[in-house]
Amino acid sequence: MSAPSSSVAPPAERILVGVAGCTGVVGQRFLSMLAEHPWFRLAAISASDKSAGKRYDEAAAWKLTTDLPADIAAMAVLPNTVESFLAAKCVVVFSALDTGVATQFELDLAAAGIKVFSNASSHRMDARVPILIPHANAEHIAILPAQQRAMGYEEKGGYIVTNANCSSTGLVVALRPLQDAFGIDSLFVTTLQAISGAGYPGVPSLDITDNTIPYISGEEDKMEMEPQKILGRVGKVEGEKEERFIPAGFKVSAQCNRVHVIDGHQECVSIKLKQKATLEQVQACLRDWQSEAQLLRLPSAPVHPIHLHTAANRPQPRLDRDRERGFVVTVGRVRECPLFDWKFTLCSHNTVLGAAGGSILNAELAYAKGYITQTKK
Ligand code: NAP
Repeated sequence: MSAPSSSVAPPAERILVGVAGCTGVVGQRFLSMLAEHPWFRLAAISASDKSAGKRYDEAAAWKLTTDLPADIAAMAVLPNTVESFLAAKCVVVFSALDTGVATQFELDLAAAGIKVFSNASSHRMDARVPILIPHANAEHIAILPAQQRAMGYEEKGGYIVTNANCSSTGLVVALRPLQDAFGIDSLFVTTLQAISGAGYPGVPSLDITDNTIPYISGEEDKMEMEPQKILGRVGKVEGEKEERFIPAGFKVSAQCNRVHVIDGHQECVSIKLKQKATLEQVQACLRDWQSEAQLLRLPSAPVHPIHLHTAANRPQPRLDRDRERGFVVTVGRVRECPLFDWKFTLCSHNTVLGAAGGSILNAELAYAKGYITQTKK
């Protein structure tokens, strides 16, 4: 179920968008979700040199359980150049590129006046690039004019917005209402992350079948840093002209594991709050949380960002990842923790809310807030 029709006036004509890295796990999600988007129309897709020049259905090994739309199957995969997207008049480019390629390419797109919504980690920790998750920190979009001034993007109108690492996403959605109501002192999180989080072809089957792997390169650092930025504030520091993000300042300790699940990251969280709360207060604060995505009734927004499950054995990835089309974080097993104050388990869809869907929701928020207009500027 999605929110009732948006309170935002739709564009007179659908806004032209592109997808860079269209053949991968995240790229495929983008294409399936953009196929019938009410505000955006897919105009250009790119991938590496091995795919460029082919029809999409020849270049990509389609892995989604929904059919590849016929018009997308016949699209030409373009070379991954800024010119490919400029020639197609794309106002927005969604980036599902490997980090190594994304770093310079996203800067080049933004400098050329394109609004970039990225899944790569390349620019997440840049001082004026928001890690935006409308369910958790919609207000951070207001940094964009400062980014444009600092980066020289003002005249042409480009910018970069990122979404978080797919595990940070589920976590911060659950943390934001707790931060607002009680303050956060520190937390400990252990993840059980799906195989699709490693891209395609990803982890070899002989490594992951009948197994768990207690190491994902770079993941624990991201989970310990990104939530601080996402739940931090915008402010000035001495000696700098433009505002930047100031970290929230709570402590996070993360342990990340790869498990034998296709989609859906599960996380076990223990948290110490700044103020005392009762079980009923913690549960109500999670269950009742409404973000700006709900208030604006964005096209992809679920009715509730958090589904509070009361069954003793939920959430489970296979049963809970697709709730409200994969845009919800399911939280369950909220109970007292003998070491910290509270503990709970959460589950979120890593390639929907944690990747392509999250980026599309970001672009919907940007349009709703006037940061995307019909023409390129
Ligand atoms: P993936 O399945 O490996 O796909 C990577 C994409 O990048 C493919 O389309 C590939 O095209 C393209 N590419 C690779 N090298 C290129 C080059 N030199 N020039 C142009 N295109 C190139 O990876 P993924 O899982 O979709 O992840 C994409 C990005 O999203 C990564 O930065 C990842 O960290 C991030 N992310 C992933 C998830 C997730 O759950 N999977 C969640 C959040 C964020 P070819 O097919 O032509 O090689």
